[in-house]
Amino acid sequence: MPANRKSHFHYKARQLFCEEVPVGQVAEEVGTPLYLYSYNSLIDGYREVCHAFSKLSPLICYSVKANANLTLCRILATEGAGADILSGGELYKALQAGFPPQKIVFAGPGKNKEEIEYALRENIFIFNVESPGELRLIEKLSRQLNQSAKISLRINPDVDPKTHRYITTGKRENKFGLDFDEAEKLYSQVKKSPLLEPVGIHFHLGSQITSLQPYLRALEKILDFLELLKEKGLNLKYVDMGGGFGISYEEGKLPLNIMDLAEKIYPLIKKTGAKLILEPGRFLVGPAGVLITQVLYKKNRGKKRFIIVDAGMNDLIRPSLYGAYHQIKKLKEPHGAGSPEVVDVVGPVCESGDFFARERPLPQITEGEYLAIMDTGAYCFSMSFTYNARPRPAEVLVKKDQWWIIRERETYKDLIKEESIPEELFSSFRGSPSSSKSCSARPLGEKKALSGPIPFTKLQGSGNDFIVIDNRSQFIKNGPEFSRTICPRKIGIGADGVLLLEKSRVADFKMRIFNPDGSEPAMCGNGARCIARFAHLKKIVGEKCSFETLSGKIFSQVKKNRVRIRMKDPSISQLNLEINLGDGSYTGHFLDTGVPHFVLFVPEVEKIDLPKMGSRIRYHGKFQPEGTNVDFAEIKDDTVRMRTYERGVEAETLSCGTGAVATALAANLVYALNSPVKIKTGGGDLKVYFQKSGTHNFTQVSLEGKAEVVYEGKWEGEVSQCSKDVM
Ligand code: PLP
Repeated sequence: MPANRKSHFHYKARQLFCEEVPVGQVAEEVGTPLYLYSYNSLIDGYREVCHAFSKLSPLICYSVKANANLTLCRILATEGAGADILSGGELYKALQAGFPPQKIVFAGPGKNKEEIEYALRENIFIFNVESPGELRLIEKLSRQLNQSAKISLRINPDVDPKTHRYITTGKRENKFGLDFDEAEKLYSQVKKSPLLEPVGIHFHLGSQITSLQPYLRALEKILDFLELLKEKGLNLKYVDMGGGFGISYEEGKLPLNIMDLAEKIYPLIKKTGAKLILEPGRFLVGPAGVLITQVLYKKNRGKKRFIIVDAGMNDLIRPSLYGAYHQIKKLKEPHGAGSPEVVDVVGPVCESGDFFARERPLPQITEGEYLAIMDTGAYCFSMSFTYNARPRPAEVLVKKDQWWIIRERETYKDLIKEESIPEELFSSFRGSPSSSKSCSARPLGEKKALSGPIPFTKLQGSGNDFIVIDNRSQFIKNGPEFSRTICPRKIGIGADGVLLLEKSRVADFKMRIFNPDGSEPAMCGNGARCIARFAHLKKIVGEKCSFETLSGKIFSQVKKNRVRIRMKDPSISQLNLEINLGDGSYTGHFLDTGVPHFVLFVPEVEKIDLPKMGSRIRYHGKFQPEGTNVDFAEIKDDTVRMRTYERGVEAETLSCGTGAVATALAANLVYALNSPVKIKTGGGDLKVYFQKSGTHNFTQVSLEGKAEVVYEGKWEGEVSQCSKDVM
């Protein structure tokens, strides 16, 4: 516990309470092992840091790795905290918890391509870059996505924080950060890049630091370096000191005195004119949690006394990993000092390293009673795992006299939910049915014909028809080839495109769409409505879900056969854009609603020679190299009648969802049509909803219309063209 912070775990009438809730009562109801967190302890921790550093008004980015529970994160986000993340998964959780992207900083020595792309798309606050290769990759990806990135370089100042060697991160021999010489070179590269903005400098010395000296020593080096950069014309706006503030795990041992630290660094930071960023994790959440466990057995061997409890090293690894000390308290307060017994408190896991205390004098403990392992809010649940097939514990939050289960205890079913059994390996085996999935073989490098039929569902959304396939097991590997084979109406199934439903790390699923020519557009509004209906019909998701597309995340809601999807905010590239087609000039409006659209309003849409006009505009030099979709629209009685020439299909389709959205927004801008705009297409009616912000910006854009199943079938895969490359 930090020295002055009031503990919210205390004895009342000889029972351990968390705030106003008797801990034993929760243990009885929820079962053990169980993590229990105090809301007010968490809030106190955050406010203590705010108070100590108030003169510098820092941005406090909670280090999500300490405990990524969504409710705990939401509490801190609501208090105004930002987040420090290390992975795509932590970014996902931070966003789900409600941390604004503009307060998220991303450190870590091994960010991969997918994680960087994800962070760029979400437009996070700062990348804390740790190597030249990482910087090159961020620059390359920001160019590809045309998305700028704010950069701080993480410095390894070679300062020993005198903590456990596994949690020391700022010494030269550690893998983290860059040394000063290298950082100097990289800053000048960042400065030259049109898409990268050098905004700050970052260091993080390690965790559980209880002395001021390492911070002051590192800061001295960092500030000298800042001066040098300033002389070279680079003025950085942020100094990020990382986290590491130590807490008191043992009675009598003091935590880091953050008031003193704040006092000492104030003049140093003030002098730089930079804004301070802090990344505390343990200090906020460590003292807010306890692990409750029940004593299963006691046994003696010679002089040795073992207390065997139902929590194991898989639930709390700190003692096994770092030899960390945690106080252990009985839920029933012992009478007086009693005569303590020297015991080992151990778990049920099949490892001799599975212990919580060794040779520790503890009051008399009986079988069946509950124990609280204290200060286990940080790096405990977040480091838990399922060794010995032990489901992870439940997590409970207490606030005053109320409590909530904020994470259910994992079940045996959870243990196998990601696994699948290749049934063909066991064709003669008649085991009892398992609830794990079956899967099909994936030949290594072998290009063989698809064996066996592929189940598909054909759906149509206002006349756009799609072959939709659940491809979570990735049996279709070559989407373009598959689409070219299956979409032709005479030799295939016939469709405007193929929709593959695949696994996603950031949403309920991922939609991939392939045109009949094999090209992969970033988005398709009618396709998105069809796949949402399919996922709901197949019970992959409920009525509401989110899914990933190449143009960002889409949210959908299904009501019977009507589907409404919320689209990414569109961008208006150019209104009243004039293009010359040789036989005269035409004026239209160029918008990006996930894919590009050129919208032209005409008096009579039926009179347009769409195959000819569409293809000439689609390939017009103004829209190269990507090309554009082309929409002709006519407005009558507040309803828009429209026709679309689709890029990739290279013909008129009965309707196009992103085209409907583009046309509705253009109709608002040019003819003041209000939301919802009614659209009539050759394949049915659509409605486009939106909110306007300012004169040209739109938010909350959604598209609604029918998405209907035409039929289900199995594709036999006999067509030779496909047999080359599909699997
Ligand atoms: N910032 C970074 C970059 C980290 O790696 C860590 C964890 O080691 C932290 C902040 C949080 O550290 P602590 O929980 O000790 O405050």
